[in-house]
Amino acid sequence: MGDYRRRLQRGFLRVNAALKRLLLATLTAKPFSGIWAPFKRGRGTIFMLHRFTDHDIGSTGHDPSLLSSALAYLRRERYELVSLTELFRRLGEATPRLDRAIAFTIDDGYLDQATVAGRIFTDFDCPVTTFVTTGFLDGTLWFWWDRIEYVLQHTARAALDVELDSLTLHYSRDPITGYSEAQADFTDRCKQVPDTEKLAGIGRLASAAEVDLPERPPLRYAPMSWEQVRTLERRGMRFGPHTVTHPILSRTTTDQSRREIEQSWARLKAEAAFPVPVFCYPNGQPEDYGDAEITVLQALGFAGAVVGTTGYAPRRDFTRAPDGPFRVRRFAYSDDLREFAQCATGLERVNQLVRGLA
Ligand SMILES: [Zn+2]
Repeated sequence: MGDYRRRLQRGFLRVNAALKRLLLATLTAKPFSGIWAPFKRGRGTIFMLHRFTDHDIGSTGHDPSLLSSALAYLRRERYELVSLTELFRRLGEATPRLDRAIAFTIDDGYLDQATVAGRIFTDFDCPVTTFVTTGFLDGTLWFWWDRIEYVLQHTARAALDVELDSLTLHYSRDPITGYSEAQADFTDRCKQVPDTEKLAGIGRLASAAEVDLPERPPLRYAPMSWEQVRTLERRGMRFGPHTVTHPILSRTTTDQSRREIEQSWARLKAEAAFPVPVFCYPNGQPEDYGDAEITVLQALGFAGAVVGTTGYAPRRDFTRAPDGPFRVRRFAYSDDLREFAQCATGLERVNQLVRGLA
C-alpha cells in the first residue's frame, strides 16, 4: 500500500512539473509573451554567462545551439538587444524605455568565450560585454578553482588530508562520483578564507594529492588572447575589467583590492580599443565587495559595476544613491529556454510580486 502511495505521489509530482513547464512555455510564447513587459517597467534586464561547450577545447558549459535558440527567440519577439553601456545610460536617465531592452555579459575571459560566444553573439548582431581577468589573459596565472579541479581529477590517491585555515580536511574518493563532492567543498571553503591562505591551501592540496600543477593552464582552462579581444571588438564585442587575479576582493587587503581594480583597468585600456568603464566583482555576492571597492571605482571614473546577485536592475535603485550604479544585478543565464524567457519577458517580475504577496 505504502509503495502504491509513493508511486502515486511520484506520478503526481511528475504531472505537476510537466504542467508547470507547459504553462511556462505557453506564457512565454505568442500571444502571451508580450503582456508581461509593463510589469518590469523601469527595470533593466542583464544576463550573466560563464563557460561554453567547445569540443575542440574540451570545455563544458552553456550549449551553443541553445544559446542560438535563445537569441533567435529575442529577435523573433523583437526585443531591443543593447550594449551594457547603453543599458547603464538608460538606467541613469528618467525617460528611456527599459522593459524591452536586454543586455548580455560574460565573466572571466576563457578561450571558449571567444571561440563559441564570440561567434554566436556576432552572428545575431547581439551586443555582449565580456569581463576579463587581465592576469589570466597576460598568461601569469590560471584560475584557482580550475587548479582545484585539475588536482582532484588527476590524483592517483584514494584519500588525502589537507590543511586550510588551521582546519584539517579529510577527503576520500567516492567509487562513483570520484572527488566531485570534495572539489565543491574545498572550493567553497576557499571562498571563506583570506586570499593568501586560499592560494597556500591549493598548493598544499596539490602536494597532498601528489599532482604537479602545470605553470600554464591546459587548453580546457585556457584564456582568450588579447589579439582575440581586438578581433572580437571589431565584430562588436566589448570588454570590461574583472580584476588581475580574480580574488574575492573582501578577502584581500585594501591595498591589494585597489591594485586589482586599478591595474586590471590599466591593462584593459592598454590592450583594448573600446574598454568599457563598468567593473565586475569576482564572485559578486554582497559579502564579496563593499564601500572601499566602490570608492576606488568612483575615483577612477567608472560608470558603475555589476554584481552576481540575481534579479532585474531597477532604475529606482540605480538613481537613489551615488553607489546605486555600483550594485547592478544580473540574471544567471539558463540553458532552459523557458526559464530564460521568464526573465526576458517580465513574467519573472510577476512571479516576484506574487511571491512578495504570499
Ligand atoms: Zn569571475
